[in-house]
Amino acid sequence: MASLAAEVLRRVRKVLPDPQRFYALHEPEFRGNELEYVGECIRTGWVSSAGRFVDRIEAQLADYVGARRAVAVVNGTTALQISLVAAGLRPGDEVLVPTLTFVATANAVCHAGGIPHFIDTARNGLNADASSVAAYLEDSAQIAAGECRNRRTGRRIFGIMPVHILGHACDVAGLASVAKKYHLTIVEDVAEGLGTFVNGQHVGTCGRLAALSFNGNKLVTTGGGGAVLTNDEKLADGIKHLTTTAKLPHPWEYVHDRVGYNFRMPNLNAALGCAQLEQLESCLRKKRVLAERYLEAFHGLPEASVIAEAPGCTSNYWLNAIRLHEPNMAVRDEVLQLLNDQRIQSRPLWRLLHKLPMYGDAPRADIKHALAHEASVINVPSSAFLAER
Ligand SMILES: *Cc1c(COP(=O)(O)O)cnc(C)c1O
Repeated sequence: MASLAAEVLRRVRKVLPDPQRFYALHEPEFRGNELEYVGECIRTGWVSSAGRFVDRIEAQLADYVGARRAVAVVNGTTALQISLVAAGLRPGDEVLVPTLTFVATANAVCHAGGIPHFIDTARNGLNADASSVAAYLEDSAQIAAGECRNRRTGRRIFGIMPVHILGHACDVAGLASVAKKYHLTIVEDVAEGLGTFVNGQHVGTCGRLAALSFNGNKLVTTGGGGAVLTNDEKLADGIKHLTTTAKLPHPWEYVHDRVGYNFRMPNLNAALGCAQLEQLESCLRKKRVLAERYLEAFHGLPEASVIAEAPGCTSNYWLNAIRLHEPNMAVRDEVLQLLNDQRIQSRPLWRLLHKLPMYGDAPRADIKHALAHEASVINVPSSAFLAER
């Protein structure tokens, strides 16, 4: 057989057949009411921190995911940060974060005054594994006065952040039972999970708080933006207040009752997002067709396969990923080099967070499976319109 890289390219070409074309990893698409809504903001002057599209995107989001409330904010990182703050994180608390995630998950913990405590990922699948987390806590944590403490550092372990990596659902139910046992608060990172369901329920809606992102490379974009999802009305009101400078309502006076944040989503961005959300269903249908094509193209190859959704889960297939069955950085990079040389934009997963300079000293579990994923997973072009022929 030719090299594995050549074989991967041959199979990717079945999905992306045009050798002349540049295939980006993920491109946004604006085919609906984007210009009209953004134009309305400009014509009316409502471009900034208030306006009807902000209320509308919050209602549209809550309705789509089936949460009682959504609070729009300026990006996904701040959505995570404010969720941690609102959930009661205290400075110096540790929060369990997978080492295999985008850096923003850990950064948000730091921005909120906490310390990320890195955990491994399941052997099969890209997300945290509930039974391994339970075993790890059994060893390294203890409950005192109704709080979970890290035996080694003595610090409180405040919570855990399940992440739905690449749009594949994390076992939040399993993690929730571990969290309950160890008095941990769950803040879900659903930045990559808009349109992902578990047994018919949208991710981020069964816990207390979850954060979405609408960055340009996500399924739905507002340019930059994010949202907090919650079923708790009081919490939602508190987060809205806190993210809008904690200003008290008054016809003309500026009165603020806390050190608030300016994390609000501008109306201009919300307008773009409202139009994007109208096309979410059709986007998800196309993503599914594209994922099926990749799965089909790699069928029967012993050395590599395409990551599929788990039973009971409906993935949004945000980014399609090829997994080499034998983790090997050199082979991974050979595949990446070849695909990128062919103008097929491909990327590895993120450098594991515990290897980054600012997180090298952070507390962590034994990391094993995440290292294997890092050396074996390759993301390939996944824009929804690639499903159109
Ligand atoms: C995109 C992303 C974020 C952060 O979102 P921004 O809107 O870019 O701040 C957080 N976590 C994960 C897993 C992401 O993919």
